[in-house]
Amino acid sequence: MNSAVPTEEHRAQSLGRALRPSVKVLPEHARAHNRSLVLQQLFRFGPSSRADLARVTGLTRVTVSDLVSGLESEGLVEDLGPRPGTRVGKPATLVGLRKKAFHVIAIEVSDDVLVRGAVMDLAGTIHQRQDEELKGRRGNDAVEAIAQLCHELIARSDRKILGVGVGAPGVITPEGLILEAPKLRWHELPMADLLAKRLNLPVYVENDANAAALGEHTFSDADSTGMMLLRVGTGLGAGILIDDALLLGHRFAAGEIGHVIVMDDPSAGELCACGRRGCLETVFGIPALRRDTEGLGPAETETALAAAGERLGTALTPVVSALNLSQIRVSGPAQLLEGPLLDAALRTIRERTLASVSEHLEIRMATLGDDVVLMGAAALVLSGQLGVS
Ligand SMILES: [Zn+2]
Repeated sequence: MNSAVPTEEHRAQSLGRALRPSVKVLPEHARAHNRSLVLQQLFRFGPSSRADLARVTGLTRVTVSDLVSGLESEGLVEDLGPRPGTRVGKPATLVGLRKKAFHVIAIEVSDDVLVRGAVMDLAGTIHQRQDEELKGRRGNDAVEAIAQLCHELIARSDRKILGVGVGAPGVITPEGLILEAPKLRWHELPMADLLAKRLNLPVYVENDANAAALGEHTFSDADSTGMMLLRVGTGLGAGILIDDALLLGHRFAAGEIGHVIVMDDPSAGELCACGRRGCLETVFGIPALRRDTEGLGPAETETALAAAGERLGTALTPVVSALNLSQIRVSGPAQLLEGPLLDAALRTIRERTLASVSEHLEIRMATLGDDVVLMGAAALVLSGQLGVS
């Protein structure tokens, strides 16, 4: 049997990937769930009193005090003293998440040339950066290069490491099994398990566009009820957050939109990396945009970019409509994408959908810029270890 077929266990794990814990759970999981509720509140909204935590989480004061004591002994939260500015009665003591007390290792493998790495704290501040060129290494050799980079980053951190997050190309299961990443010659590669054994740390591996979507939500203001993060590079991929969860799909390939054939006559199109012709990637990837605008004056460039934006808008229209997206965040070279191109894409989607679907739709560049995948890799660790996003 092909292990790529999703099992019930896979399915249960994907359901467990909801961004925000919000529903009642079985008693045996209650403590971990309640711990996440408290951590989520402190992560999102900053220091709170125990009474406020009880109120917003719906937990009892006793349960909250007990959880906070546990988190204090783990070193994750600390007492910050009385709430400033309280005038009447005994001021409540605030507790806060110690975002600078822990580090995570974030790894981005977005192409087959360079692996980017960073040491980050829980607030998303990058403290160290280090890259490693793959120099043609593929398969297990590429995994070895990533493990080595992780070791070097861990050595450069002066804090306890909470875990390692990896954003990588390809179709990846929630357990961090890379089903398929052809350019790196990874097939059925248990990346998370391999790295966890080597590093002796919790490791989370997710598709790079999916990681970027999580990063844009966790460390910026992206909506998690209907958001697509579109990564435009040599390839084209998307990570989608729907109803507070990462959309994975039947075989974990949700968001793989680059190889949809969009040309009316594909035989006239360029040969794509997937072996077919006329894919969206070949008419909308960065190489195509550069080719379409090469040597043009400013006005002609604007026209060419607007035409590309219309092609993108046409391709995204059914996706926006089917999923009722409210935000599309785009990551890639801003000089090509920002302005006429994204304006034309939005206009095209609005022209082709019901107003109720697209009147509030917003399309803009990702807030986190070039670090969106690294930030997403860190978000994987925060989500996996603390249940926060
Ligand atoms: Zn293709």
